[in-house]
Amino acid sequence: MHRTLFNDLVELCRILERTRSRTEKIALLVRFLDKLGEDEVIPAVRILSGKLLPEYSSRSLEVGITLIRRVLRTLPDRGLILEHRPMTILEVYELLNRIAKACGEGSRKRKERLLTALLTRLSNTEREYVLRSIFGEMRIGVSTGLLLEAIARLTGSSIECVKRAYMYTPDIGELASIAKINGIDGLRRTTLSLFRPIRPMLAEICYSIREALRELGSIVAFEYKYDGVRIQVHKKNKKVRIYTRRLSDITEGIPELVEIVLDNIKCDEIILDGELVGYIDNKPVRFQDLMRRFRREKLSKDLGSMNLLPYFFDVLYYNGRVLTDISYENRWGILEKVVDEGILANRIVTKDMNAAKDFLKRAEEEGHEGLMAKRLDSIYTPGVRAKTWLKIKKAITIDLVIVGAEWGHGRRSRWLSNYYLAVWNDSNDEFLVVGKTFKGLTDEEFEEMTKRLLKLKVGETERVIWVKPKIVVEVAFNEVQRSPKYKSGYALRFARITRIRYDKSPEEVTTLRELGRIYEEQFKRKARLNK
Ligand code: ATP
Repeated sequence: MHRTLFNDLVELCRILERTRSRTEKIALLVRFLDKLGEDEVIPAVRILSGKLLPEYSSRSLEVGITLIRRVLRTLPDRGLILEHRPMTILEVYELLNRIAKACGEGSRKRKERLLTALLTRLSNTEREYVLRSIFGEMRIGVSTGLLLEAIARLTGSSIECVKRAYMYTPDIGELASIAKINGIDGLRRTTLSLFRPIRPMLAEICYSIREALRELGSIVAFEYKYDGVRIQVHKKNKKVRIYTRRLSDITEGIPELVEIVLDNIKCDEIILDGELVGYIDNKPVRFQDLMRRFRREKLSKDLGSMNLLPYFFDVLYYNGRVLTDISYENRWGILEKVVDEGILANRIVTKDMNAAKDFLKRAEEEGHEGLMAKRLDSIYTPGVRAKTWLKIKKAITIDLVIVGAEWGHGRRSRWLSNYYLAVWNDSNDEFLVVGKTFKGLTDEEFEEMTKRLLKLKVGETERVIWVKPKIVVEVAFNEVQRSPKYKSGYALRFARITRIRYDKSPEEVTTLRELGRIYEEQFKRKARLNK
């Protein structure tokens, strides 16, 4: 059977790195994918994209800079080891997988041994690319968008068809494999199925009820915007599984929610989209406290008495029928029939601005975040931030990823407490710093953050520890300013962290483009206020 050498993949990466033209990059990728064996596609694409494990995987490599440095120090130069035959892509991937699988007691030592075994068998150049992939930073100019185009070209299908399939198969490696094995038909057949979670649909920021009514048509649905954790519930008869927006399965940690679903949803098969809210003494709890429930932390007595309540606002699948392509209004019609009113999102449908304003006031008075405005004829677009769903809330916040940190002063000197925050520049596949902050976290959170950041360290310059972009935080600010200080061209004024977004992946942070839109919007709002 044909086995592709790992070195061929490395050569491809080196050429891609030097190639500027997008069309040429796509052609190179297509030629490479075409030559691979069917079972080599997932490993090759995952290594190439620097996403060694699918997003929904509960495992992680947990290989930090310290471990890598230690391993590298003990390695002989590859030139001196002549007896090894070159490794194949499959062999490299298999070892990487074993590193990810090592967990529990003694796992650090096991990971170190496996990494040593892998790197010993690779040339210096091969080592470099394996390490880039482990760090998730290939720096070869291959974005997800480019890979999707290569998959389209490989199968002779349209980019729309591939993008649609990607909504339902969120792992790019698996998608490439479907394309390779089953071609265009495989891509077309890809759809929603039970117990295979998909990324949820997202909303755009909106600044007022007036804007929502203007943007979404003459009559609009307004729902409470609950401040909890996004959940996707899959149910087939008595079997229920609950997934987060990062597609991890959290069913085991919340048995009471399974009970609620079984008691209040009367149908055989369903996939629901909703928000899970924690209550103590009938008041919604802080997002951080709710997240603790899922991180299996020991809970304080108060948090132990937390009640969980889901609010469902969409239905994606019902008794064998995929509903994502039918209108919101029709989906709601089904939802309403099947889901008990007590766990349905509170909503009104109106064209009256005052009615919507009153509804917003009520939502806020009850301790919720604001409102979601939804277009009645809109379809459900998984993983897409759509203009047909708008979020209206008091404080505009953005999500940023921490890329570096500095040690604090005085009382904070034990902690990495000053953070470099970055947006995602999707046109150039890079994270760009837009500001620094030391505001917003509690002592306990600084302590935890320091531990997490040290594990993610990839380098150090003077006072700054640079880290793998992994930790996402929600940030409030007073203004976005133009600034030559950062490569992004923007700087946040008075940035402060409002929460740690354990539920978000770095791919989901605010993009440079979105920040640009917020910057522009500020002036329009000021102009409106001054009128
Ligand atoms: P935010 O940080 O403002 O919560 P986000 O970045 O998490 O937003 P968005 O898509 O921008 O995600 O905002 C929508 C989020 O609001 C959803 O992901 C969901 O978790 C939550 N939400 C609460 N109530 C609703 C609702 N009725 N309809 C849709 N989403 C809702």
